[in-house]
Amino acid sequence: MICKHLKLNKIKDFGEQKLYFCQNCHIIISRLQKTPIATTKKYEDYYEEEKGGRFGFGLEIIIRLFRFNRAYNIKKIKPQAKSILDIGCGRGFILYYLKKYLGFTTTVGTQISRPAAEFARKKLALNIHQADLLDIDFGEQKFDLITMLHVLEHVPNPEEYVEKIYKLLNKDGIFLVEVPNFNAWSRKITDQYWLSLDPEYHIIFFNYQNISRLLKKYNFHIKKINTFSFEYSIFTSTQSLASKISKSDQLVYKFLQNKKFKISLIPHLILFIILIPFSLLINILLYNSLRGEVLRIVAKK
Ligand SMILES: [Zn+2]
Repeated sequence: MICKHLKLNKIKDFGEQKLYFCQNCHIIISRLQKTPIATTKKYEDYYEEEKGGRFGFGLEIIIRLFRFNRAYNIKKIKPQAKSILDIGCGRGFILYYLKKYLGFTTTVGTQISRPAAEFARKKLALNIHQADLLDIDFGEQKFDLITMLHVLEHVPNPEEYVEKIYKLLNKDGIFLVEVPNFNAWSRKITDQYWLSLDPEYHIIFFNYQNISRLLKKYNFHIKKINTFSFEYSIFTSTQSLASKISKSDQLVYKFLQNKKFKISLIPHLILFIILIPFSLLINILLYNSLRGEVLRIVAKK
């Protein structure tokens, strides 16, 4: 039976955003005071119109290197895998690299944002469903690997996704899921300044306990867990600490997204740079502690 989250305890009150703990399934749910923007509109705006990108040019190159690194690491998880479904596939670079360089013959993505889906189809020639996973009929099609990277925290009903993903996997298929880690050391220190709270977009929060519980409920076997991400950890910890200390918004992150310069960015940026080595050190020291910024779980059918 899928949890309807009927028994909720309020655990955090940040004014606009409140967090609740479900006594039944143990997930943490975020609710906003104001009426949320409709989902489709929200994700249309998530990616830039023409390029379907989210950041400027210099950062684009770094992002593509990160995507290639991800594709390579995905290949290593199951070297014999030939088919993959990437749920919420961004602009499709991971799928593109897996197909072009890493021996995958079937690469399918889902993406609800139209600009990003069109980029993946037209520029990368990928097979993309521009729809929510739950609304797609795959017929008899199954996959060796399914990935869902920084997507499960965006949906109000993660359990329905996990249930469908299990059915879409071949025997011994692998599900790779990555979400922000609510038990991250920086979240405990910075509270409402934690970057991954992302009130506009993140609806559900996970820690090792509640996500393991969810995966096990649908008969997955957890093979591996890691909480450090080169791509996310240092930036998230540093930005969260800088915001907490200066009691300000996520200014570096916002600047990287919209390029709008504000004078208040200068002292914030200096603080940010000073904090980088500190964040790096803590993340390295806590490498094996399950206190890192992300939860990356490899689960087997
Ligand atoms: Zn629940």
